[in-house]
Amino acid sequence: MEELEHKYEVVIETTEAKQKLPDAIKTELKESGMMDEKGKLKLKGVSPKMLKKMKQEFVNCPVLKEEIQFVQCFVCPNFQSRVMGKVLCKGDSLK
Ligand code: SF4
Repeated sequence: MEELEHKYEVVIETTEAKQKLPDAIKTELKESGMMDEKGKLKLKGVSPKMLKKMKQEFVNCPVLKEEIQFVQCFVCPNFQSRVMGKVLCKGDSLK
């Protein structure tokens, strides 16, 4: 596989705790059709089984400098791909 140009490799971690998406992210997801009105995620190419797993995952984002849910990372403009438990992140400023 060809290596994509990226700045960070961010390790994906798992939690048993229930994670909640921030309201601003939910609004964004809804606007882009990735979440329905009931708050159900609809991500292209992601099976319900994968989605369930993704909801238990988080990353320590090097750009936002905080822990965020993997779902939020997955839809981030910096997200390039997921390889062997790591996110290849472009690392551009998100402001
Ligand atoms: S892809 Fe976005 S959310 Fe994920 S680690 Fe990079 S900057 Fe953070």
